[in-house]
Amino acid sequence: MLWRQKDSKTNFGDAQTKKEEKEDEMAQIWKGGPVASALNKDTALKVETLKKRGIHPALAIIRVGEKPDDISYENGACRRAEALGIAVFRFCLPADASERDVEETIDMAGEDPAIHGILLLRPLPRHMDEERLVGRIPAQKDVDGVTDLSLAGVFAGKALGFPPCTAQACMEVLRHYGVDCRGKRAVVVGRSLVVGRPVAMLLLGQNATVTICHTKTEDLPARVREGDIVIAAAGQRGMFGRQYFRPGQIVLDVGIHFDGEGKMCGDVLTKEAEELTEAVTPVPGGIGSVTTAVLMSHVAAAAERQETDRKTE
Ligand code: NDP
Repeated sequence: MLWRQKDSKTNFGDAQTKKEEKEDEMAQIWKGGPVASALNKDTALKVETLKKRGIHPALAIIRVGEKPDDISYENGACRRAEALGIAVFRFCLPADASERDVEETIDMAGEDPAIHGILLLRPLPRHMDEERLVGRIPAQKDVDGVTDLSLAGVFAGKALGFPPCTAQACMEVLRHYGVDCRGKRAVVVGRSLVVGRPVAMLLLGQNATVTICHTKTEDLPARVREGDIVIAAAGQRGMFGRQYFRPGQIVLDVGIHFDGEGKMCGDVLTKEAEELTEAVTPVPGGIGSVTTAVLMSHVAAAAERQETDRKTE
């Protein structure tokens, strides 16, 4: 689907109802579902082609403990992988496993040529040095984009590993809906290594002019209103209300929260953004729903790259 820019000069005829006028004034809701479907279709084709060449893409998921969030993410990833023909090896360690146990599991998956991608569910229990353990994942199998080398690749614009899935999910949404980032002002709120910084680099790579905002940014609403593209990744439920927006903006809501009634919501007050902006991604059903599709596309790409590397060794 291509981005249909609202035409402010449109002259509404008498026949057009008030309802239609109102609808036309509202932002488009850019759902993640169609983006994920398109990505999954490409991945399924790639997996099929790889299998014909005797390569069976496989993902290792390493989980420590029984956190419901981890289990639900893992189950979702398994279902998606299965649908795409990607094999999943689950390594489930008890919450009181030692750091050495996790290290050995990562090393084993790292050395196994039948495994192409490793997803280490985080945060790890507090008694473990997460940074050190993450660093043991070989970059070519780092399909979640968490190692220093993967991030270095994002910053240098080189395919050293893979970009963090959520950051890439934002770019996939923009691409799917036909946004040309070149010359656009992009404002990213959040500077974490998981979302804010990598998405800022990916936007820069697409020739956007990027501003990164954080808790020390002065007059945040004014900075955000400057953005043609806004990435809301502050991790603050409902923080972005109408004072942050203006007509013409594209707003991607990365936040994932649950309100008092257990309903999922994002960083953006969607209804308020909808009244002013050009397009906004919903929560749920927005960026989050693209993230797993990106992860699976990375597994297929990792399998292909590793095969090419083996041939050239
Ligand atoms: P972090 O908490 O690691 O980072 C939040 C960033 O936002 C920090 O840089 C922080 O600034 C900034 N920030 C926080 N509050 C404000 C504020 N009031 N004004 C300006 N800046 C602010 O979060 P993550 O990056 O890991 O995640 C962000 C959100 O994305 C979360 O809601 C998370 O649940 C969601 N998420 C969604 C995913 C998906 O698939 N959709 C995947 C991963 C995360 P400072 O550096 O100054 O502290």
